[in-house]
Amino acid sequence: MERVYIHIPFCKSICSYCDFCKVLYYGSWVTQYLNKLALEIVDKYQGEVIKTLYIGGGTPSALDIKNLKYLMEIIKILNLSNDVEFTFECNINDINEEMLLILKENRVNRLSIGIESFDKKKLEFMEREADFKKTKEIINLCRKLGFKNINVDLIYGIPKETERVLKSDLDKILKLDVEHISTYSLIVEDHTKISKIIPIDEDLDARFYEIIVKKLTSKGFKHYEVSNFCKDGYESKHNLGYWNNEEYYGFGLGASGYIGNIRYTNTRNLSKYLKGEFNETEEILSKEDVMSNELMLGFRKLNGINLQEFYNKYQVNLQEVFKIDEALKNKDLIYKDGYLFINPKKIYVMNEILIHII
Ligand code: SF4
Repeated sequence: MERVYIHIPFCKSICSYCDFCKVLYYGSWVTQYLNKLALEIVDKYQGEVIKTLYIGGGTPSALDIKNLKYLMEIIKILNLSNDVEFTFECNINDINEEMLLILKENRVNRLSIGIESFDKKKLEFMEREADFKKTKEIINLCRKLGFKNINVDLIYGIPKETERVLKSDLDKILKLDVEHISTYSLIVEDHTKISKIIPIDEDLDARFYEIIVKKLTSKGFKHYEVSNFCKDGYESKHNLGYWNNEEYYGFGLGASGYIGNIRYTNTRNLSKYLKGEFNETEEILSKEDVMSNELMLGFRKLNGINLQEFYNKYQVNLQEVFKIDEALKNKDLIYKDGYLFINPKKIYVMNEILIHII
């Protein structure tokens, strides 16, 4: 096991569309939470060398300095490799020199910043804040303090969003000159403040996706996963672990992990977590389940699945387990240089293609 995800669920305000595992920031819960997080890590972690560590949320940057230092002490339980990729998620409004120095001292080398948009109406809809000038200044500060690997997130497909608005967001994000951009189409989830709204038309969503891919790739970004783009050599190693169906620990409220043939999910109930009742569900996966996951996750990558590696992992040829002949004939799938991948022109409809194959 080389990968660890740690969830910090606290947010200073709640975004209208959010279905993540989060709770409104309440100072006196944070230290209690971190105490339990430390216990969970000590209980489950077997001492392996960790190559990727991702602290996500919620909003990890919501922690005050005292608790941020405490979190960094807890991380020392883990045996991080010399070349670890250590990502820390931030809200742009939380970033300041003092917190960046603490992150730097503790080997954080990748920042993931949830910008989502710079458009006033989109931000109002999402109940978020972002200001281009301030963001640029903060990113300059991150650069000054030596952070060379920065991701920003963009959300699109907000009701009434136009192509002009999306293009303006893309232009501004490109001006930030970051190494990695993650894009997400708005999903209307139950139990969120926007659960009653009507999502944008599918054709428009597809058009938006096309605009994003065209714009970012024309500016030299590599489209390496359905929703993710990077400059050369800046793929997210941690997320590639998920898409390669590799094992990982998940620690913290609502976190999931995958160890051996077991996928587990922690409770999303903060009271239970604070009592030390961490695990909620455990699913034992059959070999068929694992191979199906390999396919569903692997085809998210634009370069798809290496057939020899699939054989080495499962001692069976992928084409003997899944019905791929028709998909190859229809050019839904392409085979090239040992890799099988979804036709890039059809990546937007990959879910339908996968249903046929699996
Ligand atoms: S900051 Fe992230 S986790 Fe927190 S409410 Fe907003 S979307 Fe959800």
